[in-house]
Amino acid sequence: MLGLLEIVIDIFSIFFFWKPKFVQADYFCPQCRQRRAFTRRATNHWFHLSLTLMTFCLWGLVWLPILVRDSRRPFTCSFCGYKKL
Ligand SMILES: [Zn+2]
Repeated sequence: MLGLLEIVIDIFSIFFFWKPKFVQADYFCPQCRQRRAFTRRATNHWFHLSLTLMTFCLWGLVWLPILVRDSRRPFTCSFCGYKKL
């Protein structure tokens, strides 16, 4: 029973110490008129997977819209802030 509690605490610490990660890619920026590093926030799949398992797949209903939203999120030029869809 104590082992289970420790696992739950571990999973919650992932949630509380989680910081957004960024995906980086190089694109041509029309505003800078040169190639720049573009970033966008990445989906934390481990976090959502653990929540899905904890809620007996119920969280999957939340995960799916988040997945769709994150995949539509624009890449932003790290230099001028230009958003590329
Ligand atoms: Zn730019």
